[in-house]
Amino acid sequence: MKKIAVLTSGGDAPGMNAAIRAAVRYGINEGMEVFGIERGYAGLIENVFLPMNMRTVSDIVQRGGTLLRTARSAEFLTDEGQELAVKFLHKRGIDGVIVIGGDGSFRGAEALSKRGIPTVGIPGTIDNDLAYTDFTLGFDTACNTVLDAINKLRDTMSSHDRICIIEVMGRGCGDIALHAGLGGGAEIVLVPEVPMTYLEILDRLNEDRSKGKFSSIIVVAEGVCKAEELQRKIKDSLGAAVRATVLGHLQRGGSPSARDRYLGTCWGVQAVKLLKEGKGNRVVGIKDNRFIDMEIDKAMKMKKEFDYELYDLANVVSNSAISYIH
Ligand code: ATP
Repeated sequence: MKKIAVLTSGGDAPGMNAAIRAAVRYGINEGMEVFGIERGYAGLIENVFLPMNMRTVSDIVQRGGTLLRTARSAEFLTDEGQELAVKFLHKRGIDGVIVIGGDGSFRGAEALSKRGIPTVGIPGTIDNDLAYTDFTLGFDTACNTVLDAINKLRDTMSSHDRICIIEVMGRGCGDIALHAGLGGGAEIVLVPEVPMTYLEILDRLNEDRSKGKFSSIIVVAEGVCKAEELQRKIKDSLGAAVRATVLGHLQRGGSPSARDRYLGTCWGVQAVKLLKEGKGNRVVGIKDNRFIDMEIDKAMKMKKEFDYELYDLANVVSNSAISYIH
């Protein structure tokens, strides 16, 4: 294995730069030539290869986003697109590709592997929606961003006795809402994995109010409903002052946390090691605090399990008398 390439694909996530930097520097240290591919599979199809050296990845470990930029490519989904990608990789003499992205990007990596290019995937998405790994790159930073927002919103909401609804990202996965809601002491956390009726939400709020607590924080995952929708309903039912905040893409940016820099660095190195050992068609991850790797298809077929125990715990420590998990 002499020449390898690295690309970022799908949505960006804080920590991707740490992974790029580690892969480039560790690869060069191991005597490899390392290329960066711009804008994911789109750049691969357009033959955009950047020779990387120790200096090209200087001053990026602390930055969110991705130095290599990222994109989604419809053309890469086609046979023609993938053939073109393989042609350019062969032309450059690239022996392996590191793909940093989410499940879609991993399916792309699998497609390249099937066409004879060894690939290793690094889980880069803030959503934490990949079943085979306990954590994905960017999740910790996104949770910290949400926590910062909860802290600030609580200051103003409690001063005015207002109810605050904070909508967070995660698509179909409630992990950001759960972990940030737990850390931020949200009175109610709404996630797609635990259906809660509107009446149950009202009960919870009424119970708080009967105890003399008029300000509550509700963290709602985007996979449940829109914050404004809930705001309107609660305002109409309780006649209370309710505010809604949608954090949106704020959660995707920002300087990566220590944890995400650590994960990105370790996974960058692990990916290069796998390629050096001649292993491809794999993804790296972390399970029970141990770094693991797994065949892409096996990892993608696993079903994400929500941490119901932690959800129950979040309810208990947010001073609710009601448990929603049986
Ligand atoms: P995020 O979690 O941020 O959405 P992702 O990696 O899941 O990241 P996708 O848009 O699903 O993002 O995928 C990124 C790119 O990977 C796609 O634009 C496409 O080029 C490629 N890709 C997705 N699915 C496949 C597939 N089944 N086969 C080959 N390539 C794929």
